[in-house]
Amino acid sequence: VKSQSKYKRILLKLSGEALTGEHPFGIDPKVLDRMALEIGQLIGIGVQVGLVIGGGNLFRGAALSEAGLDRVTGDHMGMLATVMNSLAMRDALERSSIRTRVMSSIPMSGIVDDHYDRRKAIRYLEQGDVVIFAAGTGNPFFTTDSAACLRGIEINADVVLKATNVDGVYDADPRKEPNAKKYSRLSYDEALEKQLGVMDLTAVCLVRDHGMPVRVFNMNKPGALVNVLVGDVEGTLMSE
Ligand code: UDP
Repeated sequence: VKSQSKYKRILLKLSGEALTGEHPFGIDPKVLDRMALEIGQLIGIGVQVGLVIGGGNLFRGAALSEAGLDRVTGDHMGMLATVMNSLAMRDALERSSIRTRVMSSIPMSGIVDDHYDRRKAIRYLEQGDVVIFAAGTGNPFFTTDSAACLRGIEINADVVLKATNVDGVYDADPRKEPNAKKYSRLSYDEALEKQLGVMDLTAVCLVRDHGMPVRVFNMNKPGALVNVLVGDVEGTLMSE
């Protein structure tokens, strides 16, 4: 069954908003359970899964700063939000009997399993544990997309998978433009030149410099994650 998957090791990025489900804010346990099920299917076919979860369902530094808070403090709050989401996801995965480690970029002994350590992370992945990389890059002024790309490159993932609410990358906003065209493939330079909003520019530059492919797909469709690994047919692939 192992050979079914195109990829041996992936870095999956979930946005914080993906966890809200029907709720306007926070975490919907039903969504966590569904994601745990889909991630469990990957583990079942022998795929090694690293996970980065955003924090936008709780706090974003930029939004807090617009409301008057200090930006760096806001970003610290955003990174702590990713830790909360990561703990919730670990809980859901472990309830589904999937061994999971949370590694935080900010040391947080007693709450997460480990401070981020690349070699340890790779050892856990090789054992078949899901590794959740929490607290973003550990630095303000970055995003969890950048964290996902950074960790993906560090752990030698075969691909970064960015789960979103839309089916891929379009030349215009498909919710506003009915004729918007979806890219099935996209080069890094095209994404940068046309400012397609795949990810922030820091993240795109990072994957471009290291030749890390990124696939953007819609995780609201049940089974999409397995389809990406087995069929590679979902969404948009950004690569050379
Ligand atoms: N953040 C940060 N450094 C990082 C990653 C995240 O400061 O390396 C903060 C930033 O304030 C960001 C928030 O954490 O807005 C939540 O992350 P993000 O907006 O990427 O979450 P998502 O949109 O994926 O839910």
